[in-house]
Amino acid sequence: MALGWAPRDVEVIDRDLGLSGTSAAHRAGFRELMSRVCLGEVGAVFGLEISRLARSNADLARLAEMARLTGTLLIDSDGVYDLADFNDWLVLGLKSTMSQAELHIMAGRLQAAKRAAAERGELRAPLPVGLVYDDDGATVLDPDAEVRAAVADIFACFAAAGSAYGVVTAFAGRKFPQRAYGGVWAGQLRWAPLTHHRVLQVLKNPAYAGAYVYGRCVTRKKIDADGNVRTVTADLPRAQWPVLIKDHHPGYLTWEEYLAIEARLAANHTGGGGRPVREGTALCQGIIICGGCGAPMAASYHGDDRASYECHSHRDGKKTPGCRSIMAHAVDDAVAVALLDALTPEQVALALAAADEVTGQHQRAGRAAELAVERARYEADRAERAFGQVEPENRLVARTLEARWEARLTALADAEQALQAAQTTLPPLPDRASLAKLAADLPALWHAPSTTARDRKRLLRTLIADVTLLPEADRGKARIGIRWHTGAADQIVIDRPGPTGIPAPTPTPATELIRELGPVTSNTDLVALLHQRGYLTGAGRPFDIKAVQWVRHACQIPSPPPYDSGEISVADAARRLGCSPGVVYYWIENGQLEARRTPGARLCIPWTPATEASCRARIASSGHLNPAARRTRPRQRH
Ligand SMILES: [Zn+2]
Repeated sequence: MALGWAPRDVEVIDRDLGLSGTSAAHRAGFRELMSRVCLGEVGAVFGLEISRLARSNADLARLAEMARLTGTLLIDSDGVYDLADFNDWLVLGLKSTMSQAELHIMAGRLQAAKRAAAERGELRAPLPVGLVYDDDGATVLDPDAEVRAAVADIFACFAAAGSAYGVVTAFAGRKFPQRAYGGVWAGQLRWAPLTHHRVLQVLKNPAYAGAYVYGRCVTRKKIDADGNVRTVTADLPRAQWPVLIKDHHPGYLTWEEYLAIEARLAANHTGGGGRPVREGTALCQGIIICGGCGAPMAASYHGDDRASYECHSHRDGKKTPGCRSIMAHAVDDAVAVALLDALTPEQVALALAAADEVTGQHQRAGRAAELAVERARYEADRAERAFGQVEPENRLVARTLEARWEARLTALADAEQALQAAQTTLPPLPDRASLAKLAADLPALWHAPSTTARDRKRLLRTLIADVTLLPEADRGKARIGIRWHTGAADQIVIDRPGPTGIPAPTPTPATELIRELGPVTSNTDLVALLHQRGYLTGAGRPFDIKAVQWVRHACQIPSPPPYDSGEISVADAARRLGCSPGVVYYWIENGQLEARRTPGARLCIPWTPATEASCRARIASSGHLNPAARRTRPRQRH
């Protein structure tokens, strides 16, 4: 107004107060300003500092470009920018770049301070329920015994049930505590039913294992289909966590237990390729692979608990000639025998002896590493003494001795590292007596009715990595490959169980008749014959074609050949003439060759020497079927 604008021509835009200037997406005020500048309604834009009208360079550049096109002035305490003037445009551009750089540096400094605090394990973050900060700021277990019991029960339930949904089931009707952060209930403890999501949160949170972690998730910017920029949060894999301090505070479980839970959850994650044990009786479910195509086989149940392993590659068009399906019990019995054989007391004694051997080797390796460290330390001390004794004036010698001392120190550090590696990789050995007892009890335990199919499968998976149904030329046999977790592999060949899909009908006079006359009598004649004798089917109905076909199928009774004497099939005719069956079909279709069609749609050709001769003549004269004829035929001229 002091510069001469009328009060009604002055408009104050303050809607964006308190909103971040990094993006124009949420700032209605800035967007309005942009649109009115574009419409040419604005004479000048006043701001305390124009370069900070938007923190994003792109937004400000767009505003400057529009102001240049519409002749709008941008005015702040530093001066008046007429963007049509190159110098003004350049200065504003520079200031805007500096403004963005300032934001970056500021954020960088704040983040660095935060990161440094986190690396010391001192950056405080909200703690999950069951852990609290004490008066000195240290992380401790919640003093509320009820809360502690609820958290501990989640881990206990998971150990028993083996899945997060199992924990939810075990907590049915029981509530789980949740600490509210922010909002009306800030700081208060709320009890709510336990959800699957909550269980996963608890199981995956390393704080419960006493670890301090910073940067478990990252935020990433994404541009959605509408062109809006959205911020999404993603979990980082454990190897990429920027800060992980183990044994930072007391926890509910050890780090090893945490890793075991993580592995179990990953194995349960079917979306990620995991094939967890299921309730069904098929023992190799989830670990059996088709040896033909290499794809996992599916366990299918066909009522009354009979299961089969099936290769479903044909659905993807990847079926190979080696792909087979097999009755589950055949494979399961063989694999169970192999497993129990591997766990006899004698085998376990052998394994323990081998383990003793390995421990001995490790101990010897550890002792050697200790000695190496001692020697390296002695060498380093000696180099240090030699360096200390030399006159400082004798620089050449001192320099050489210093370099030698340094080399000895490096060797010492290497030796110490090797010793530490040797000590930490020492395998923990199970208690011998309890192992031997367990092995002796195992067959009884395995067959006990109280042992569920799930338990058996878990036990199986502790030793066996996978089972493969290998290709086998003999169709009456099945070759099974077992790959143990130790890396050893076994092959077993078993008799493939016969087709048990169709129960054969009990022999009756009717089936005996079909069996006797079936190979030489047609179905129609059989039906007539059965009617004549007054036989009925098992269901008490008179026999029809379908019933006869069923008996043929179930008892594997062949049908009589459809050809009358002197008749041959199309394939036979083609073979005799040395031409393709397509040619014979073509002649029949065009009436050049006589044929009879049976009720089963089969073509029967009455074959006589005369028929054969006429066919041969037809081939000989055809340029298409006989290239020799084509070559000798004179070319037709028009
Ligand atoms: Zn297959």
